[in-house]
Amino acid sequence: MREIQAQNKSVADYKTRKKYVLYVLKRSISDQEWQEFNNLVEKLEQEGQYDADRLTTTLDKKTSKTHDPNVAGYIGITEQDIYTSDYNFLYGWHFYNIGVMSYHRFTAEFNDEQQNRPRLRERFAKQLISSAFHTFDIPRCTSPLCARAYPNDIEEHDRKKLDPCSECRKQLEQKIREYQHD
Ligand SMILES: [Zn+2]
Repeated sequence: MREIQAQNKSVADYKTRKKYVLYVLKRSISDQEWQEFNNLVEKLEQEGQYDADRLTTTLDKKTSKTHDPNVAGYIGITEQDIYTSDYNFLYGWHFYNIGVMSYHRFTAEFNDEQQNRPRLRERFAKQLISSAFHTFDIPRCTSPLCARAYPNDIEEHDRKKLDPCSECRKQLEQKIREYQHD
């Protein structure tokens, strides 16, 4: 337990249990067997997730029938964890102007934290801003504190500001102007 930096009480949490089992197995079976086991666990975990590509395709089909010319894009929101074939998990995903976002990994339960609604709302809003800009086809921002920066984990997501940076705002204004002229 010490070697995986876990305390006895944290075995109640799934992530710690998984880490522990993988750690023990690494020392008991061959590398190939361990890799196969790890792949299987990931596959099984993914079956409890929604395929983000399937969600955007479904949302695209549903919205194209009733397409309102004044609507620039659509964003679907789910509590369920999402993934694609290239990413084990995602906070948000998009296909042209159709986006999907998940707040599964923003919850206190997922992160083993105290309940905190304002924090959850802030995490949610930052992702919604990122997703909304994607539906306008504005590329991901590299400024680390911009609400639209790509976070590697929840800590990085929390460090970001709630607002998009001035460069992103400029791009959005430009896109809105183009959209209104179309
Ligand atoms: Zn930015």
